[in-house]
Amino acid sequence: MPATTELSPEILAKYEPVIGLEVHVQLLTATKAFCGCSTRFGSAPNTQVCPVCLGLPGALPVLNRRAVEFATLAAMALHCEINETSIFARKNYFYPDLPKGYQISQFDKPLGEHGWIEVPTPAGTKRIGITRLHMEEDAGKSMHEGFLDSRERTYIDLNRCGTPLIEIVSEPDIRSADEAYEYLTRIKEILLYTAVSDCNMEEGSLRCDANVSVRLKGAPKFGTKAEVKNVNSFRFIRAALEYEIERQIEIVESGGRVVQETRLYNSQEGRTYSMRSKEQAHDYRYFPEPDLPPLVVSNAWREEIRTTMPELPEARRKRMVAEYEITEQDAQVLTGTRAFADQFESAARAAKSPKRVANLVQGELLGRLKAGNLELEQSPISMQGIAEAADLAESGELSSKMLKQLFDRCFETSEDFSVVYEREKPQQISDSGALEKMIDEVITANPKQVEQYRGGKKTVSAFFVGQVMKMSKGQANPALLNELVTKKLDG
Ligand code: ADP
Ligand code: MG
Ligand code: ZN
Repeated sequence: MPATTELSPEILAKYEPVIGLEVHVQLLTATKAFCGCSTRFGSAPNTQVCPVCLGLPGALPVLNRRAVEFATLAAMALHCEINETSIFARKNYFYPDLPKGYQISQFDKPLGEHGWIEVPTPAGTKRIGITRLHMEEDAGKSMHEGFLDSRERTYIDLNRCGTPLIEIVSEPDIRSADEAYEYLTRIKEILLYTAVSDCNMEEGSLRCDANVSVRLKGAPKFGTKAEVKNVNSFRFIRAALEYEIERQIEIVESGGRVVQETRLYNSQEGRTYSMRSKEQAHDYRYFPEPDLPPLVVSNAWREEIRTTMPELPEARRKRMVAEYEITEQDAQVLTGTRAFADQFESAARAAKSPKRVANLVQGELLGRLKAGNLELEQSPISMQGIAEAADLAESGELSSKMLKQLFDRCFETSEDFSVVYEREKPQQISDSGALEKMIDEVITANPKQVEQYRGGKKTVSAFFVGQVMKMSKGQANPALLNELVTKKLDG
């Protein structure tokens, strides 16, 4: 990363980064947190507003039940304890796109606390603590225009005002930019599995603020942190953290002090800039929201919500590894999204060899989808087709070369595997006489290998099968060929 000067690996190794992340996630409710306005993205500006979300005097908020259910489900999926009673609080600040002058949030009594998730690291699985998960509402959006022609303008769109959010605050347990990346990836995966959010970063459904400090390894106390705000992709967050870690080490190394501040990341330049020195929490003058009663999630309601919990990615991977005898790596790829995992499992259950299905999906399907810029849902080959192809390959009726050709055909013509297979089924040579003639030829031409085989090295038969396959241009019926080769060699 381009810090101002290059730091040697020895100097970098003296320090330990400390990172804590605050993740804001929009909940997938149809309506807003405290009024009935639509949360739809992309509508004409200021068309989804009412006295409540505009903060007009006298308007009263009414809490959206669905938002509570989503927030509770997410909190449970992140292993948080659910507080039976949590309190909404006003967080007061001025911002042009916050007409109320405060945001309804939760402060000292959040919905969920003491959670954790596990992330993979080079040193093994690591648990990262989640301090709290609370509910709050989003603000509107300011849109700036005309920086170049000095007719600078700012427009305000209040459609987003009052959209329900959860904020997930991690403990300062993260120790590298890579760990931060993994943490975010896992959080997103869990939220997608629970379907509480679409986590679309481009539309701002998931946003992350990264807090980072550095300290000498073994130092008892954390250093002063800086907060990097509004970075809109996980890769950029990782890059911003890498930059920020080096920037801070450089300051400390040259005898300076890191100041507590909010910084912005410029992805084009790959560096962070100071935005403003950090406001203290008490500046927000939090106080309990007088217009809303305490939020009570009774044990009964909580348990009812728990019944909607899907199998989560980590558990699913473990089960799939055991059930289908696939590798961890396979499971990782195949559980990328819940829909994808569902699709794979339907094929794996229909086919004779789930492992072969896993290989087919990863080796032959994903690459072709990517090359065609297609989502899984747009694949011409259905999971039924994948299962069929896997079984044909398993029984030896289809060589891997033919299978590849048939898959190519499916993508060219946008037809499913069974359609293409029925039409273009390779003309296999299943005539034993013809095959035996070829086998005899190969045997005569390779006396050394015959000797090896008869000397006990049975694996050499694969060599003969391969030679005949080549001679037949891949058209020999593999099952029959195998049988005949063994018979000839043994005879
Ligand atoms: P603030 O009041 O400044 O928002 P918080 O205590 O709420 O600070 O913490 C915000 C986030 O910063 C949390 O994710 C927390 O883990 C993280 N954090 C706190 N102290 C540090 C530190 N010294 N270095 C890095 N991250 C920190
Ligand atoms: Mg904070
Ligand atoms: Zn409204």
